[in-house]
Amino acid sequence: GARAKTHNFAAGPSPLPTPVLEEAAKGLLNYGNTGMGICELSHRGKEFKPIVEGAEANLRKLLNVPESHAILFTQAGGTGQFSGVVLNVLAYLRSKRASTSYEEYRPPVLDYVVTGAWSSKAHAEAQRLSIPAVPGGKPFAEPRIAATTKPSKYTTLPKKEDYDISSDADMVYYCENETINGIEFPLDPNSPFAFPFDSVPKDALIVADHSSSFLSRPIVHLERHAIIYAGAQKNLGPSGVTVLIVRKDLLVDTTEACKLGGCPVVPIMMEYKVLADNSSLYNTPPTFAIYVSALVLTYLLKEKGGIEGLEKTNREKADMLYSTLDEAQSKGVLTCVVKDKQARSWMNVTFEIVGQEKEKEFLAGAEKLGLYQLKGHRSVGGVRASLYNAVEIDSVRILCDYIRTLYQ
Ligand code: PLP
Repeated sequence: GARAKTHNFAAGPSPLPTPVLEEAAKGLLNYGNTGMGICELSHRGKEFKPIVEGAEANLRKLLNVPESHAILFTQAGGTGQFSGVVLNVLAYLRSKRASTSYEEYRPPVLDYVVTGAWSSKAHAEAQRLSIPAVPGGKPFAEPRIAATTKPSKYTTLPKKEDYDISSDADMVYYCENETINGIEFPLDPNSPFAFPFDSVPKDALIVADHSSSFLSRPIVHLERHAIIYAGAQKNLGPSGVTVLIVRKDLLVDTTEACKLGGCPVVPIMMEYKVLADNSSLYNTPPTFAIYVSALVLTYLLKEKGGIEGLEKTNREKADMLYSTLDEAQSKGVLTCVVKDKQARSWMNVTFEIVGQEKEKEFLAGAEKLGLYQLKGHRSVGGVRASLYNAVEIDSVRILCDYIRTLYQ
């Protein structure tokens, strides 16, 4: 059908594997021959529970998540976790210092590494949550910026020497892949742009937004993180479900923590302990999104060689496109937004076409070839090709052939 000729480079929501969607279409109408569709079945029924449990088990297997960490499914997207993370971390830190009086309690230091629009928004939310309960009173937290690449318009990453991580930081936050600018922390620990895990104080919680690189390759030092979260709508499934990987000691009773004074109340469906105690089914979850995500996880394990297979294919796709772009850049027809090769995202590849009106022509010509959704984010313009798992290497090859026509 028409779908076979479409190469979808959307940044999110993003393409999903065709075989998974074919299966999901059947389940939408008649799940497991029940005569009822998946969206019409109780989330607590015998059909749905195994879907959530299976998704959790497959995710644990795919990313090698240790038993020290819980896997939770929730809602409200990555943006929901800008707040959720801070609220839960503040309650956890308060409960750890339960014997300290409110008067003596020091607001936690939250260090943010700001490398693009998303980490910047997360930091802004932490600042809102640091407003004290009483005007002029003690703030709930002290958010700081431990490093920023704003002066470069977020087109590179900080180098090791650019970080100023507080020696008394309680939390250090980063965004692994900045979807809009096309910046990603490299896998290679020896790269000058590698995230400086060694500079983070031993007891500080490391929190990371993996929304746009989740399941594209292994997570560096997964076990060292306190919280990793990701909205589903890039590599996992439809929008509406958000995944959390949370170190189990962070699953604290936030109500009890709040009673000690010094941290804000956590809305009940944002409390990680509540989610965990109820196996991610505290309230009605987005059942269809979880169902499709579960199908994707099985597909990635069985058909795509697990995380190693995905890493290999995604590296190949990114290498192919960046080398084509570097060649085209040397011919003067376009410029790559991210100049430092080791800071370039595998998932979101950003470039600008040289010459007025040329970009519009480029995008229109692309659509004639079935190359869709290449327009850059409205805040930065330019072109962005997102190479999520469901983008086949042949689609990247066709895009590269098209880019070469700009100068050949
Ligand atoms: N973090 C990253 C890296 C993102 O790419 C996005 C959205 O694209 C978000 C957070 C926000 O996610 P949501 O739209 O699910 O709230």
